[in-house]
Order: sequence, then C-alpha cells, then structure tokens
Amino acid sequence: MSPIGITLLMLAGLAGFAWLAWRKLALLTRLQPEVRWDHPGQRLRSVLVNGFLQRRMIRREPAAGVMHAVIFLGFMALLLRKLQLIVIGYHEPFTFPGLAGGAFAALKDAVELAVLAALAYAFLRRYVLRPRRLERNREALLVLVLITVIMFTDLAFDGFRFALLAGHDAGIAHERDFAFAGQAIAAQLAGWSPAALGAGYHASYWLQLITVFAFLVILPTGEHFHIATALPALFLRRGRPANEVPAVDLEKMMADDADPATLRVGARTVRDLSWKDGLDVFTCTECGRCKDACPTFLTGKPLSMKWVNDSLKHHLVEQRERLLAPWPPQAPAAAGQEGHGGSAAAPAAPAEDPLPALIGPVISEDALWACTTCGYCEAACPIELEHLPRLFKLRQQRVMMEGVFPHELKPVFEAWESQNNPWGLPQQQRADWARDLDVPRWTDAAQAADFDVLFYVGSATSYDPRGQKIARAFVQVLRATGTRFAILGEAESSTGECARRAGNEMLFQQLAGALVEKLNGLEVTRIVTCDPHAYNTLANEYPAFGGRWQVEHHTQFIARVLGEGRLQLARGARRVLFHDPCYLGRHNGEYEAPRRVIAALAADTPLEFELAGPKAMCCGAGGARMWLEETIGQRINVLRTEQALARQPAVIATACPYCAVMIGDGLKTLAREGEVRQLDIAELVAAALPDAGGHVPPAGPPAADSADPTREAAHA
Ligand code: SF4
Ligand code: SF4
Repeated sequence: MSPIGITLLMLAGLAGFAWLAWRKLALLTRLQPEVRWDHPGQRLRSVLVNGFLQRRMIRREPAAGVMHAVIFLGFMALLLRKLQLIVIGYHEPFTFPGLAGGAFAALKDAVELAVLAALAYAFLRRYVLRPRRLERNREALLVLVLITVIMFTDLAFDGFRFALLAGHDAGIAHERDFAFAGQAIAAQLAGWSPAALGAGYHASYWLQLITVFAFLVILPTGEHFHIATALPALFLRRGRPANEVPAVDLEKMMADDADPATLRVGARTVRDLSWKDGLDVFTCTECGRCKDACPTFLTGKPLSMKWVNDSLKHHLVEQRERLLAPWPPQAPAAAGQEGHGGSAAAPAAPAEDPLPALIGPVISEDALWACTTCGYCEAACPIELEHLPRLFKLRQQRVMMEGVFPHELKPVFEAWESQNNPWGLPQQQRADWARDLDVPRWTDAAQAADFDVLFYVGSATSYDPRGQKIARAFVQVLRATGTRFAILGEAESSTGECARRAGNEMLFQQLAGALVEKLNGLEVTRIVTCDPHAYNTLANEYPAFGGRWQVEHHTQFIARVLGEGRLQLARGARRVLFHDPCYLGRHNGEYEAPRRVIAALAADTPLEFELAGPKAMCCGAGGARMWLEETIGQRINVLRTEQALARQPAVIATACPYCAVMIGDGLKTLAREGEVRQLDIAELVAAALPDAGGHVPPAGPPAADSADPTREAAHA
C-alpha cells in the first residue's frame, strides 16, 4: 500500500468534510440562543434508545425500522473496520490481535451481509414498493449505491487479501479462519495468478477507501448530513410537550424603552429562530414519516413539516452571507460624540434586517394557517425533531407584531375580548345549558369543602348546542356517581387555548390571568372537564401562571369511578368506533381511559380506525382551525369521517366537543347522519346508566340544534 496515498486521501476527506460541515454549522451560531443541556441523563437515554436502538422507528414501522437500524448499526460497527484499513495503508499485515481479531472478523462479515440485505430491501422499498411519503430523491440513490460499493469492495478486499497473503502471515491466516464471507470469496479465487490477485487486492482497497472518503465529503451537502447530526439533535431535544407554546415576555414587549432592534416576539426572519431550529432543519432525513397521518398532507394542503424543513434548509444556505454579516450593524459615531462640542445627534432609526421574512418567500401563508397543531409530525419523527414551537413563533409574529392573520379570526379575537368566549355570545348565557338542571354554582372560597370537584365546562361545551348536550349528559353521569360537584356558571371564562394556538399570546395571557385568579380565589383543588383543549391548558399551561390543580378529563374520571365500582353501566352499544382527540391522546398520552369506558358499556368488541391511538388523524379543529374556512383540498373532517365509515360503525364516539362537531358535520356532508350516530363518551355513558336502560339513541335526521352553529357563529 502507499502511506503517502492514504495520508493524502485521509487529509483531503477530513478537510473536505470539516469545511463543508462548518459552512452549515457556522450559520447556527447566528441564530437565537437556547439552553439544551439540562437533564443530561434523560438526554443520553434518548440517544441510546431512539438513536442507537432506533426504537421509535421500529415501533411505528417495524420492517423499515429494522432495515434502517441494521444499516445504522452496521455503519457504526464498520467504523472500526475502516480504522483497520487505514492502518493497513501504513502497515499491510495489520490485523486486530488474537481472539478479539477473529471475533471482530466474523462479526464484520455478518454485519456486512446484514447491511447488504437491508440495502436490497431499501432499494425495493424506494423504487418498487414506493410508499406515498417517499419522494423521488437522487441523493438517496447515490448514498445507497455508495454504501453498496463500500460493502462489496470490503468483502472483495478480504477475499483477495486472504488468497494473496494468508499463506505468508499467521495473523492474516488467523483472521481468515473467522471471516467466513471473505474466506468463501478467497476459495473462489484459488486459481488466480499472484499478479491478478495483487491487482484485485489493490483495486478493492483503493476503491473502497476512495468511496468512504467521498461519502464523508458528500455528507454535509445534503440530507444525509443527519448521519453526523442526528445523535447530537437527539441529545439536544426539547423533551417537553410538543404543543408547548414558546413564552412571550409581554412586560418587556410593552415596555416604553423596548428596543425595536432587539425586541423579539415570535419569528419574522430565520435569524429569529433558535440554533436548535437550525440544527433540526439540517438534520431532517426527508424520510417523510411526518406526513403519514398529517391531516394537511393527506387532504392536499400545502403543508407537511418535511416540506417546511426543506424550504428552511435551502433558505438558511441561500442567506448565508446576510446571516453571517454582523447584526445589528454598528452605528456610526454620532457627530456630538466626536469631541467637537456639537449638540447631541438624534438617535438613528433602527436598521432594517436585510434578511427576508419567512412567511411568503419561504413558508406560504396557507401553510402557516393550515396546521391543526395535532402534533403527529413530531410524534412520528424518528429523531424527535421539533416543529410546532417554530410554527407558533411564526404565528405570534404575524398576529402580534404585524396584525396579519386570516380574516375569520378577527371576530373571534374580538369576541374573546368582549365576552370572554370565541362565540361572542353574552357572558350571562354561559350557563344556559344548565338552566333546568339545578347544578350548584361555586361562587365562594367558603364552599371549597362542600364540593369534591369543579366541572370546568369550557366555551365549546357551554355555548355550542352540540357541546351543551355533552355537558348535560356529563351532569347525569356525575350525579350517578354521587360526586359533589359544581360549576362556575356565568362567572366561568374561556381558557384562551385557541387564542394561544392562533398566535395571540397577549389575549391568551389576559384570559389565563383572569381564570387562574378566579380558580385560586375559590380555592379549587380538583377540576374535571369534557374538553381536552381546556384539559391541556389547565393541566399543562396554567401552572406557569400560578394554577396548581389536579385536572382530569371526563373520560379519565369515568374510567376511574368505574374502576372504583362507583358506576354501573348496562351493555347495549354496538359497533362503537372511537376517534382519539389529539389533545387527549397525542398531547397528553391518554389512549386507554376512553377505551376502558367504551369496553364497559359495549355489547360487542369496539372497533378501531386504521389510523388509531398514537397514529390517529386529527378531526381538523385544533390549532384554531375550528374558526377558519377550509378552502384548499378535501375537508379534514370529511376525510376523517370517511376513515370512520370504512370500519362500518353504528356509533362514532368522541371525547371532545370540537371533534363532536367536526365528525357530526362530516356525517352530514356525506349524508350518513341518518345511519350512524356520533356521540360523546359522556352521552354513551349517560345512555348506559341503569335508569336510561342502556339503549343508545338510534341514528336519525339531525335535530335543528345540531346544525353547525359553531362555524356559522364564527363566520357571521
Ligand atoms: S401538527 Fe399535525 S397538521 Fe400540523 S403539520 Fe404536524 S401533522 Fe400536519
Ligand atoms: S421531520 Fe422527521 S419525520 Fe419528517 S421528514 Fe424530517 S426526519 Fe422524517
């Protein structure tokens, strides 16, 4: 071999990789700071489980997951082999000594054959099976070919080496005894002349190492940079709920001395994103798993997080010069400060950031507002890339700094401001749904000992006629369990969850402050609600505003009291299919409680969607989409209803007032409301109470009040 040759090849490969990688990584140093090294133990665990063992990928897609894990682990194991080959460049007879060398030779052959099998499946999947999410990609083909070349040339190198040198060197002979694949190839070369063996030996060596270092140089230029960045990205992951909205310091924003050059509310340009956002877009493998159950992708809207990552990645690289230039620029010294005794100059106007805005040139307005914040994309991403915080930052900037948002949101924001609810209906009507039910009101802290739990009804369940039925059914259930409960009645106000998801953090914080103060003032300690959006906000977001309560979703409450033997249900419902609300399942991990309740009242085995549980598709109402027209592609609620009807249910059960409206609306659109019932779990349970006889009300034409007043009110 040639020590000079291997030295030059190594230097060129490493220098090329370092230079190209730094060209990308240097851009991250110009993005916003963020601390990502707390809880190192949990971070290392994630690297081990989802990085080295690839658990997330294998769980969601076993065949493709195992394939990727084999290639990845093979790659890792073969790094040692490449070290051996580099040493051979300086000292040809080099082998790892003793039994370890033999064991390594056998393992190496086994790994290479496994990687070749995985590569064959990768080619088959990408070019024959072609799942919808995989788009045509020349880089992927190049990388598959390069890895295949590396595997074949390594096996061939062993074959030539054993045939040529094993008779002269005891170490190589020992390695040959274990390297079963190389030995088999060597046996096929038995009749070759020493000159032909030597040529094959050198050719396979140099072709392999040139391919290895070419691969290294290509890595930072495309999506396969993730081979270098995926493990660091996993270590630096957020590790908090996907839909946690980045906080905005309103006091700082409103301060008289706020400096517009440094004030940052949400994100306008790529400079406003964090370095982790940048690392994520460079790490995206473009596998497209985030699209599998993404409602916007599946209904033909211009949004999938893979596309967003791709656009941002190209934008970051294109804006390299502007991003690396000093910012904010140094102001020239004012005339009055130059020592000539002149009067002080007026402060210069803040310089305009030369970076283009992201919304418009990089991410379309339609894409920004299409997202339902269902969180599937984050849950499905095998390397835990973070998408939703970025989207929230873009919406915050659009709404709070630029005042640009879909026109349908204007009356909704105004309704919140004037009536504390997005329906714009009078505050005094908030408890009209309970007028004839004689439900106790919690109006004073002195009553805290009188009640076990506060039933927080929420705006959707208070004002929407469909939601009101759910509230009334749940009151029946609460009474059947002997629970001492109360509502806030007319004094209740909205949690502001939708306002926050729509980017109106100022409005959200006003609503949050008022509600937290009220609940704390009443000394509430336990809350139950039928609305998973309210549940998420009360349980996960209000602690940051001083709220500390034990919160249960009504399905959790019912499952618990069933377990305690405090509720008896008659079995009667048949062919019940449960739709998982994103804000209960994906965002709060609760998949079992609703299923336990349905199992307790069903007369046959409950049905499941094809996209169910962690893979469930959103109904289309989250992320403030409830209030927006849907003008692009198929309507999400209609697709979800079609998915339901494919299972031939008698009842589509929901556990969220928004889902109830969306699925009910889907049944109407598809003219199936006369055959299939849509019921909340509270309604199913109320129908299964012994007094009610356990009979699910039959499907029939929609009642006048179950039209879609929610949307009508929003669009009025
Ligand atoms: S949060 Fe849901 S709707 Fe939004 S991009 Fe992700 S998967 Fe699609
Ligand atoms: S964001 Fe994650 S799931 Fe989506 S394409 Fe990138 S790596 Fe794959």
